[in-house]
Amino acid sequence: MIGILGGTFDPVHFGHLRTALDVCEALALEQVRLIPCHLPPHRDQPVASSLQRVKMLEAAVQDYPAFVVDQRELGREGPSYSYDTLSSLRAEASAKTLCLLVGMDAFRGLTTWHRWRELIDLCHLVVMMRPGAEIPAQGELADFISLHRVAGAGELRQQAAGHLLFQPVTQLEISATDIRMRLAEGRSAGFLVPEDVREIINHEGLYQGRQ
Ligand code: ATP
Repeated sequence: MIGILGGTFDPVHFGHLRTALDVCEALALEQVRLIPCHLPPHRDQPVASSLQRVKMLEAAVQDYPAFVVDQRELGREGPSYSYDTLSSLRAEASAKTLCLLVGMDAFRGLTTWHRWRELIDLCHLVVMMRPGAEIPAQGELADFISLHRVAGAGELRQQAAGHLLFQPVTQLEISATDIRMRLAEGRSAGFLVPEDVREIINHEGLYQGRQ
C-alpha cells in the first residue's frame, strides 16, 4: 500500500511528518509520497516558491527512505486537483492500493473538492485526527462516511480503493500558518520543523515580515 500526502507544505513541519509516519507504521505502508501542490485550488498562493517548498521537503525526509517527495503537481498547468493527481498515480500504480492521507480539517472541506465523490474510486481515504476537528455528524459528508467507513487497516488491504478510515495519530497542534506568523514576528520555528528545514528558512530569509 502506498500513502499519499498532498499539501502546501509552506513550510513542511512536524505536524505533517510525525502524523505521516504514524500512518505509515499503523498501516504498514511501503511508501509515503509527499506531493506539494503548485496552485492550491482552495486557498491563497504559498509564500515560498515551489522550488523552496521542495527543497524543505527533501531536507525533511532525507533520513526516511520510505518518504518520497513527488513533484508531479509542480509540472502541471492550472490548479492542483487531487482528483487529477490520484488519476495519474492510479495509472502508474495499476493494481496497487493507494491511501490518500488527509488531516481532519482538510477532510471536513472534502465536498468542495473537484470531483470529490469520485476520489474514493481511485484510492482509500485515511483521515488523520487533528486537534480541535471533529468527525462530521450530519450532512452530505456524514452520509459519505457511513457509506465508506471501515474499522481497521486490514480492510484497506482487501481492495485497491473505496474505503474510509479514521486513523488516530500523535496530536500535534502545529500549523504552517502559525509558523509563518512566528517568523514574521521575528520569533523562531525551532522544534516545530526539522533543523535542516529551519536552516533553509533562515538562509533564504523566508516568511520574514509577511504573513
Ligand atoms: P496552513 O496552516 O498553511 O493551512 P497546514 O499546516 O494545515 O498549512 P498543509 O500543507 O495545508 O499544512 O497540510 C497538508 C495536509 O497535512 C492536510 O491534509 C492537513 O490537514 C495535514 N496536516 C497539517 N498539519 C497537521 C497536523 N498538525 N496534524 C495532522 N495533520 C496535519
